[in-house]
Amino acid sequence: MEQKRGGNNLQRVPGGRGQRVDDVSGVGLGGQERAQSDSRPELDAVEKKARERETAGGPDDSPEVAFEDLRRERDVRQQEIDRRQEKDSREMANVREPRTKRHRTDPLFVLELHILSDRRPAEGKRYTGFMAQASKRLPHNAPGDFYVDASCIDCDTCRWMAPATFTEREDQASVHHQPDTEAGRRRALMALVSCPTGSIGTMEKQDPTRAIEAFPDRVHDNVFHTGFHSESSFGATSYLVAREQGNVLVDSPRFTMPLVRRLEDLGGVSMMFLTHRDDVADHRKFREHFDCERVMHERDLGHGTRDIERPIRGEDPVVLDRDLLVIPTPGHTRGSACLLYRDEFLFTGDHLAWNETRGHIYAFRSACWYDWATLVRSSEKLASYSFEWILPGHGRRCHFPRERMAAEMDKALSWMREAA
Ligand code: SF4
Repeated sequence: MEQKRGGNNLQRVPGGRGQRVDDVSGVGLGGQERAQSDSRPELDAVEKKARERETAGGPDDSPEVAFEDLRRERDVRQQEIDRRQEKDSREMANVREPRTKRHRTDPLFVLELHILSDRRPAEGKRYTGFMAQASKRLPHNAPGDFYVDASCIDCDTCRWMAPATFTEREDQASVHHQPDTEAGRRRALMALVSCPTGSIGTMEKQDPTRAIEAFPDRVHDNVFHTGFHSESSFGATSYLVAREQGNVLVDSPRFTMPLVRRLEDLGGVSMMFLTHRDDVADHRKFREHFDCERVMHERDLGHGTRDIERPIRGEDPVVLDRDLLVIPTPGHTRGSACLLYRDEFLFTGDHLAWNETRGHIYAFRSACWYDWATLVRSSEKLASYSFEWILPGHGRRCHFPRERMAAEMDKALSWMREAA
């Protein structure tokens, strides 16, 4: 039986029960879980009563009357449940709203979340707060203010954003050198606010205002790194292309008000290009807030993306605008696609990236979810285009003059064929 939940975030799950989903799932969940587990027995009792009436027979117990009674009782019960869940939501809001409302006037809002650290969820629950826990500081961190805690998922974001501060040790990030300049501290704080799991912390209070305001962070010309990576896309990098004809968001960062306000200041978002199914994160919230058109290859559509506005079909390139070309590049996933902007910037999602250790353009051989041979063919197709930048979701970006980029693509193709 369909459950009605006015204004609440409820989804149907295979078990048939409504399950609330929330950005801060795991933080103060007690109230939500209570409401959900309380609600089902009540609804079951109403259904049971109606069934008993139906089997009892008699003029007043006809199926029609029983059905009407059932509907009336369910409505009353449902209103009670909605009221209770609304109350729980308000209690939740007391925990999470301050950090979205106060941040505009209180520059220390992020670091004040230290006080929320004891609300951290149990192992395995998702946590989208900002601050790490000093008690879980990894032992490899250099002594001093900045540290990485044990919740690090090793997404690499902090290392490429602030390599002077962060490094890798035993499959997690850690601080190898405490920032000792203003610029270094700012860069480390930019990594802190971008960390998808809130695994970076400071022992002392730091003012993150300038770090927050540094996003979107210019890559080159009118192409920006949005920062604020999302855990649901394993910390994938998102980009903003600021254009007179309308801004384009490439893949989805975390939907967080400091970033949303900055995007508004830059003219909003008119189009959202989703490179593949893994990096869609908060696409729906951006769509709802900015009314942007979402573009994605139909072969990667799935639960949560079926209603996107502009599915791409087939394997031929598709012109979105005179400076925007979608190039389908199946391989990593069936529906992976790259976006070529101004014949200069190639947004590759997880199709291609620069590999710092190997020193060449690379594709994720062990994380190829669809088909490696198809991925190689897609890369051969890409090599026929001219561009200067590769801007990936995961992995490092690279920039070369066109001729050198063409040579790098040839080198990458040789390696890919051998890696088959
Ligand atoms: S950004 Fe966060 S999760 Fe990613 S490697 Fe750094 S500390 Fe770990």
